[in-house]
Amino acid sequence: MGVNIMPGANSRCKKGAPLQDGSGATALVLSVVPVYKRDMRCFARLCFLLFCFLAATAADGRTRPLDFTTIRLGGKEPVVLIVGGIQGDEPGGFSAATLVATRYAVKNGAVWVVPNLNFPSIIMRSRGLNGDMNRKFAALDARDPDFSAVSRIQELIRHPQVKLVLNLHDGSGYYREEKIDALRNPLRWGQSVIIDQERMDGGVFMAELGREARQVTEDVNSRLVQSLHKLHVHNTNTAAGDREMEKSLSWYAVRHGKAAFGLEASKEFPVELRVYYHLCMVESLLRQAGIDFFRDFDLTPESIRQVLQADIEVSFAEKRVFLPLDNARPAIGALPLPQNSAPVTSKPIMAVLPCRKNNEALCIHYGNRTLTRIRPDWREMDDSLSEVRVTVDGREKLIRFGEVLPVAESLLVHRIQGFRVNVIGFPGRSDDDSGVTLRRQNFLKHYSVDRQGTLYRVEVYNKRRLAGMFLARFGAPAQAAGRRDRLPAVPGPESALGF
Ligand SMILES: [Zn+2]
Repeated sequence: MGVNIMPGANSRCKKGAPLQDGSGATALVLSVVPVYKRDMRCFARLCFLLFCFLAATAADGRTRPLDFTTIRLGGKEPVVLIVGGIQGDEPGGFSAATLVATRYAVKNGAVWVVPNLNFPSIIMRSRGLNGDMNRKFAALDARDPDFSAVSRIQELIRHPQVKLVLNLHDGSGYYREEKIDALRNPLRWGQSVIIDQERMDGGVFMAELGREARQVTEDVNSRLVQSLHKLHVHNTNTAAGDREMEKSLSWYAVRHGKAAFGLEASKEFPVELRVYYHLCMVESLLRQAGIDFFRDFDLTPESIRQVLQADIEVSFAEKRVFLPLDNARPAIGALPLPQNSAPVTSKPIMAVLPCRKNNEALCIHYGNRTLTRIRPDWREMDDSLSEVRVTVDGREKLIRFGEVLPVAESLLVHRIQGFRVNVIGFPGRSDDDSGVTLRRQNFLKHYSVDRQGTLYRVEVYNKRRLAGMFLARFGAPAQAAGRRDRLPAVPGPESALGF
């Protein structure tokens, strides 16, 4: 296989949870890189994982399972812990948690977000690769593959500053106390606020679970998209002998004196609508907890759809190679990459992995979706150059590697002594495309990075070594915002015990 184990990468999120692994019980391998993104407000920790059994068995102490991320917003107490992705096939919950982690700011208190608790299952679109993680909080064998993740999230829940725990799920249908029809009945979980009991002991922060949950339904029911979506409170009365609920994360929190709610959107909805209801519920509870927050988008399904599809990026080699992926082709060929640099992704639910069907290729995952498949052209790097001089639409300028250069009509890359330029998709006669005026109509569209045929790679080499690349975007830069299709979501299997 053509992929190395990434050496020496940082093993923990810069501001994250305790992330010591259990003994390597899995064949997954990764490196984790701290990265500072999104107008300098939040951290996203990003993962690189290799599904390579050979590499994993060569365990050298630097290999780690694909792990969850903890992103901390705001200051001190009270801390609200938001968990997404305990089940890997519930994109409403983990996408909503990701938006809180990356697009919210918090004052008067803190929000800690784990958007990807069961990250390997998210990537594989599985409810639970090792069984249902939300049934592992009462007792768990140390040999269970989920043991490390479960014990570390338990540690976070028990953290003295954590006062409120929200566990985000997508449930089927619409929960109703009485049966109305197949989709609306007591066995469904969608569109409900789940509590384990009416209230907790005095002295516990937000101890009136029932009243607070009803406040959530009141807040959210005033902004329903359709009356069918009406939210209800579901009290599982766990202490009265609900053997299944006793194994859940939220009951673990309640047992440890923390107010906890399970929030369920409905699997009947596309992802953006699930996320809409999740964020409505989360915001109601943040307000009730006295936490001030700010988000940089409108709370509507349409804005949510846009932000979920925005800023999907990956870079390699200190951004000498950079790809925006919001509308990428399903396959990107012969991308020059250094073997020993961990990719940096822009969202905590993204991962770059060897593809399952062809581990010579790298698949870029975003939650349950595979965005694109890259066929790498492994290269040594030359870091003696960081920018090149271009003439774009008649104006001369310097462009750094990793940038996206808007081009209306024409682009010319100036000659660089000792280097050659390869413009992918430009059918030039020589092996150096510098000094040549490039126009959009000259390009072969199927070489573009994006589906519309507007985004092209300009690669700079010193002999066989890659110095870096930038991207030329022809035409109006706003075109990427033009997609209106619904976000894909697969309902996924679910037992009667959806939560
Ligand atoms: Zn669930």
